[in-house]
Amino acid sequence: MLILSNYIGGTLQSPVNGRYIDNYEPSTGSVYGKIPDSDEHDVNLAVAAAKAAFPAWAAMDPASRSRQIHRIAEGINNRFEELAAAESRDSGKPVGLARRMDITRARDNFEFFAAAALQFASESHNQPGFINYTLRQPIGVVGCISPWNLPLYLFTWKIAPALAAGNCVVAKPSEVTPVTAHMLAEICMEVGLPAGVLNIVHGAGPQCGASIVKHPEIKGVSFTGSTRAGREIASVAAPMFKKLSLELGGKNPVIIFADSDYEEMLNTTVRSSFTNQGQICLCGSRIYVERPLYNRFRSDFVSRVQQLKVGDPAAADTNIGAVVSETHYNKILSYIALAKEEGGTILCGGEAVKMEGEQAGGWYIAPTVIDGLSPQCRTNQEEIFGPVVSIQPFDTEEEAVTLANNTDYGLAAVIWTNHLSRAHRLGDRLASGIVWINCWLERDLRTPFGGVKNSGVGREGGWEALRFFTEAKNICVKI
Ligand code: NAD
Repeated sequence: MLILSNYIGGTLQSPVNGRYIDNYEPSTGSVYGKIPDSDEHDVNLAVAAAKAAFPAWAAMDPASRSRQIHRIAEGINNRFEELAAAESRDSGKPVGLARRMDITRARDNFEFFAAAALQFASESHNQPGFINYTLRQPIGVVGCISPWNLPLYLFTWKIAPALAAGNCVVAKPSEVTPVTAHMLAEICMEVGLPAGVLNIVHGAGPQCGASIVKHPEIKGVSFTGSTRAGREIASVAAPMFKKLSLELGGKNPVIIFADSDYEEMLNTTVRSSFTNQGQICLCGSRIYVERPLYNRFRSDFVSRVQQLKVGDPAAADTNIGAVVSETHYNKILSYIALAKEEGGTILCGGEAVKMEGEQAGGWYIAPTVIDGLSPQCRTNQEEIFGPVVSIQPFDTEEEAVTLANNTDYGLAAVIWTNHLSRAHRLGDRLASGIVWINCWLERDLRTPFGGVKNSGVGREGGWEALRFFTEAKNICVKI
């Protein structure tokens, strides 16, 4: 049994209340670890440790701070395979994906922001007789709270810029997928990160997470997770005037025109629908296809999806692993049942997959394609966050834009067309923080990342992240 600890003030610690939460292995449905069920007592200790570490960390010259952050990236690289195996086991995702995407990106997040710490600069504005210069100073102690779908990837996407900007951090990973965060703590100890600079507290959202959000010494909170939790967090943090970055849910449209490069579009649309069992906030879940292409696309898409292999996340040939928890499994299956009630036709999948042997108790769902649903129905409006997509034809560009913009979310959108001006026109008109044209999930870490409407407030990535994790102070000098 794997027993995890909090990482506070540079040491591994048990939760003050002595309580633990069960940690499940999605591929078998069985408990394989215990994680601290921390509460405000642990958060208070973590904040005190971060506060004590802050003056030295903030005052450190950027080159030394950059080296410290770079060492964490090296530490991740040294334990790369172990981390990929742990991420796969903890979340149910195929181990190849954990390698290619999660752990690679976790390492790259630290490398990227180690370099950014050396490059970050601020502005100066001259006027006759006066010169203004802007200082961008670290906020102090900040809170970073992340979800289960890309555990170490998203956890480090917050921690790395927060540290690079000179803050000390109290971070909480999802209680559903805590293991690689625990390993990150071990890595920070191995590479000699100064005590208290990063503190990792494990536990449930309403206790541990909420204690971070409401702690008066935590001046900024960066959160990625559900729109529901984001709303709760905003209601606590906003009246305290904390800096807040919220990366929330999505219901992303994919718009396919008949003139797109067919094979590339088809292959990528299978990926954009089902990578990580559809549990990526950027996955396309509403696919709109220009009518002349609709029948051909439907038949080819369904046949490709049926070839995806659902299986043991540890096996090299698995395309679709287990979904992350029993609660989430039941939620996804209930949306498939709802889609049928709402008049949808299940073209493939639509049911749980029962494995044999060790995996018999795991949470597997066949990749599911549905058509015949109305744009307004709940299946097409609410985030499912699983291996389920709907497809629907459209006739005009105008209709495609209306359909795409017809939800409360606005995180990411994909457009497939070779018509140059149409591609740019649509890119401009989609209510979305991110638009990919003829590609998907291409990520340049310098670009602004985030959503509009109920998908969030604020942007991560590159300078946006470093600006979020600093306060701008303008100094005006008479000359
Ligand atoms: P969640 O909101 O349930 O939990 C996310 C994190 O917040 C967890 O660490 C949880 O413990 C914590 N938390 C929950 N309630 C809290 C509260 N009241 N106060 C403080 N912390 C709290 O989300 P989830 O189920 O872990 O993740 C799935 C969701 O995340 C989906 O909606 C998905 O779209 C979204 N997501 C968004 C992005 C993005 O970049 N926009 C990226 C990945 C996932």
